[in-house]
Amino acid sequence: MAADPAQDIRELASWQRGLRAQFPIVVGHPGLVYLDSAATAQKPQPVLDAVQDYLTRSNANAGRGSYPWANTTTALGEGARGRVKEFLGDPRPDRSGVHFTSGVSDGLRTLARDWLPGLLEDGDEIVVPFSDHQANLSPWLEARDLLARQGVRIRVRELPRQAGTGDYDPRELEAITGPRTRFVPATHVHHVHGVDMNVHRVRRAVGPDVPVCLDAAQSVGHLPVSVADLDVDFVVFSGHKTMALPGTGAVWSRGQRGPAFRPGGWSGTPNTVGIVSLAAALDWLDGAGTGRIERWTVALTSLLTDGLAQMPAYEVLGCRSNLAAGSPVQRRRSIVTFRHRGIEAQDLGFILFSHGFMVRSDGHCQAGVPEKEGSVRVSLHVHNTPQEMEELLSTLASLQ
Ligand code: PLP
Repeated sequence: MAADPAQDIRELASWQRGLRAQFPIVVGHPGLVYLDSAATAQKPQPVLDAVQDYLTRSNANAGRGSYPWANTTTALGEGARGRVKEFLGDPRPDRSGVHFTSGVSDGLRTLARDWLPGLLEDGDEIVVPFSDHQANLSPWLEARDLLARQGVRIRVRELPRQAGTGDYDPRELEAITGPRTRFVPATHVHHVHGVDMNVHRVRRAVGPDVPVCLDAAQSVGHLPVSVADLDVDFVVFSGHKTMALPGTGAVWSRGQRGPAFRPGGWSGTPNTVGIVSLAAALDWLDGAGTGRIERWTVALTSLLTDGLAQMPAYEVLGCRSNLAAGSPVQRRRSIVTFRHRGIEAQDLGFILFSHGFMVRSDGHCQAGVPEKEGSVRVSLHVHNTPQEMEELLSTLASLQ
């Protein structure tokens, strides 16, 4: 990745203009700036077209009828499964599985309920992240409590982090991994600090046999995510953060380590239109190029962190060495979270909206952080522009 954000912005500017023009909600609101893509992403026109097309041409239930609309719906669902595998660079699509969910919380909870108990025996250990998104902590603790009620006691250990950066510490993880370590759920990109959490080093730390689950809520759609490179067992992501409709998401499972993942129970009618929108969103993202999306959003993030570093009134959360644009460890991805030393986060959120900026200002559902301990999160996607960053910085500067 080029270390010079200005060069990336110059090289990608006309490509980005073409993509931005495809977001009707962005183009239709020239006075507003959407800076909350980590909560949910805006939808480009081809995704909206796919939804309209499906609902007006072949809407039916999946797997239940023998008439053409029902067959089309079933085929679209199967096609979307293949599309998820392809998008994640799945080297063995014949062995892996895709289960559609309503988002990451639903996906992780399904794994904790329907897969994890079959893996664990009395005395086993799991290593979980205590200060990532609550969605990647509570399901594992609930599974532990449920097993305890059945007489199976498992130990939950904290996934170690590096002091000062907040990234996972692979050496420490290796040190605590033992013969009873059975499972590690990790987060790819932190939803508050915005950094890649060193997950590429998790596999080496835990060895070849321990299943690893990736909460990829903030990475899928923002950067290339390859299950071949990462050698993880599950990738769980939200379709609605990946430019598909709300109420969509998926669990990709490798199907090699641990018991087979068979989501239990009768789940009824699938979210057919959501699944159609997810396949269209992945098509769109592949066409745009996730590598270029990453370069663009990292360049904008650098503009923002460099600008904030000049303003003593603000404290940027997360790894300090990720703040400078030229930093050799520039791994901040499209998320910058900060506090004003004299203005409450909620108030700052309202003030920023009065200038047209839509940011998130609360505790960001971070495990272990009370909601009232707020901060302001700016999260970007490919439709955001350097001009928007400059306008935001000048508004923030005026509040010092
Ligand atoms: N994990 C992370 C890292 C997130 O950022 C989020 C949402 O913000 C979630 C999980 C929960 O995702 P969902 O709202 O799709 O359940």
